[in-house]
Amino acid sequence: MRFERLTSLPRKPRRLRAFLGSLLTAFGAVTLPSFKQLASSRPWAILAALSTSACHAVKTAARAVTLNDVHSRLNSTTVASVAYPESTEELAEIIRAAKREGKSVSVSGGRHAMGGQQFGADTAHIRMTAMNDVLSFDREKGIIRVEAGIGWPKLMEYLKTHQEGSGPVWAIAQKQSGADELSLGGALSANAHGRGLRLKPMIQDVESFTLVNAEGEALTVSRAENPELFRLAIGGYGMFGLIASVDLRLVPQGKLKRVVELVSIDDLVDKVRERFDMNAQYGDFQYKTDTAAADFMRVGILSTYQPVPIDTPIPEAQKRLSADNWNQLLLLAHTNKSEAFERYSRYYLTTSGQIYWSDAHQMSYYNPAYDDYLRSAMPGYTDGSLMITEVYVPRLQIREFSAAVAEDARAHNFDIIYGTMRLIERDDESFLAWAKQDYACVIFNLRVRHTPEGIAKAQEDFRTIIDRALSFGGSYYLTYHRWARKDQVLAAYPQFPEFLKEKLRFDPQERFQSDWYRHYKAMFAEVLPSSATPAPG
Ligand SMILES: Cc1cc2nc3c(=O)[nH]c(=O)nc-3n(C[C@H](O)[C@H](O)[C@H](O)COP(=O)(O)OP(=O)(O)OC[C@H]3O[C@@H](n4cnc5c(N)ncnc54)[C@H](O)[C@@H]3O)c2cc1C
Repeated sequence: MRFERLTSLPRKPRRLRAFLGSLLTAFGAVTLPSFKQLASSRPWAILAALSTSACHAVKTAARAVTLNDVHSRLNSTTVASVAYPESTEELAEIIRAAKREGKSVSVSGGRHAMGGQQFGADTAHIRMTAMNDVLSFDREKGIIRVEAGIGWPKLMEYLKTHQEGSGPVWAIAQKQSGADELSLGGALSANAHGRGLRLKPMIQDVESFTLVNAEGEALTVSRAENPELFRLAIGGYGMFGLIASVDLRLVPQGKLKRVVELVSIDDLVDKVRERFDMNAQYGDFQYKTDTAAADFMRVGILSTYQPVPIDTPIPEAQKRLSADNWNQLLLLAHTNKSEAFERYSRYYLTTSGQIYWSDAHQMSYYNPAYDDYLRSAMPGYTDGSLMITEVYVPRLQIREFSAAVAEDARAHNFDIIYGTMRLIERDDESFLAWAKQDYACVIFNLRVRHTPEGIAKAQEDFRTIIDRALSFGGSYYLTYHRWARKDQVLAAYPQFPEFLKEKLRFDPQERFQSDWYRHYKAMFAEVLPSSATPAPG
């Protein structure tokens, strides 16, 4: 299928982009120009790019390609090939071909997971980015059907521009915070969450989806149809099939007022209760990250968002940080964390009272090249990246947990660049549920040096944080790394061996594989059926 595209000219803009995407990926490039960008380039430049690339493409396409995740860049993986399907049928055909050839398949969307979930060494890799269309929109019910490679910005732009006339205006309920160019397929596969104060993880927003299974059949999966797969594939990291499209439940769009206050961790529970009484819908607590400061993790910016009448104007001149401002804050977060907190909190307090659309306020600034900026701006820069971990603790124990983990952070000299706390409601549906109860979520974004010692330290630091959360009856998120010890995996996810057995039941030939899966398969080898086929390349 990929070779077809390499020898024939693309039929439509999306195909052109996908075509260029496969070529650029083959050359190791990570960012695709948008079609708009291409169209605004001079025609000769496009033709030159096409012809030069096409010449090389035939030679290079069959070569293995090395891919990596965007944020941590710690998952460099060489896959056998990369395909950019554009329809469910193409996706199914890739799986049928992989079956015929005895190949295993891995799949990625935005490539933001950091535990090797989206790549498998020597797999036939599928990038979902060319499957990014809105397929239908039921304005009566508020359900939108999208291809699973679509990212949040395109989906939200569609909703913004296709809801004229009367009737309710629909919006997404939640998306991940911290980055926007994440795919819907990736969000379902991680069972992601946003900043909702009264929301469950993403599974709550899913009406149904189309799953291409290991036989290359497209199945409708919902709570009523193939319900086992509904529970397994959401939060199943691509191990039960390829999500081709998603029917996403929307919510009526509203307007919200941001309320910001500097709060001590001692008062956090009461303050959040107050905000609940004010009907706050979203929010978080961004804590001070300077381990040397006496109020490290004890003080933070509590910001919540509460509904206001829909005719409340949104002034043009509302404050927002520019890309430069964000970059400077990022630099300060590396070089002078207390100053970063002072500046950020001073600014954020001035935004209290600003009005936002309920969906738009969830968008965030993210610079995928953040480390290039640091390299150029930071004195004494050493090669590294940021890596996140997220743990969950019972809400009423947040103060005690923070005190304990702050001691750990000081003792082990954690380099925390950014940290936040949020809330999640219990997920009573997905098989591998991480929100096992109504939890407080505590997020640590740590700087990891790219040396063997630096990576070993990050592994230890993350294990220390997980141990601390587990000691409070908590849990942790599987998305960000695969560094948890076996006892930690089992404490947080006692059902993990069952999850692997279910994987083998639905996909006995292990068509869908990733390095993340192979890691856990090896970890739990003794409880898996000995007939499990060895992982094919
Ligand atoms: C800066 C940053 C901020 C983040 N913030 C949040 C947050 O606020 N909340 C949160 O919950 N998470 C957050 N995440 C994690 C993020 O939600 C997950 O990593 C999510 O899976 C990323 O989506 P993606 O499109 O990048 O998926 P990828 O990283 O490409 O893939 C992730 C998983 O999904 C699978 N997958 C992708 N597409 C498909 C498909 N079509 N069918 C089947 N499987 C598929 C992959 O195989 C892999 O297992 C954040 C990550 C970063 C780096």
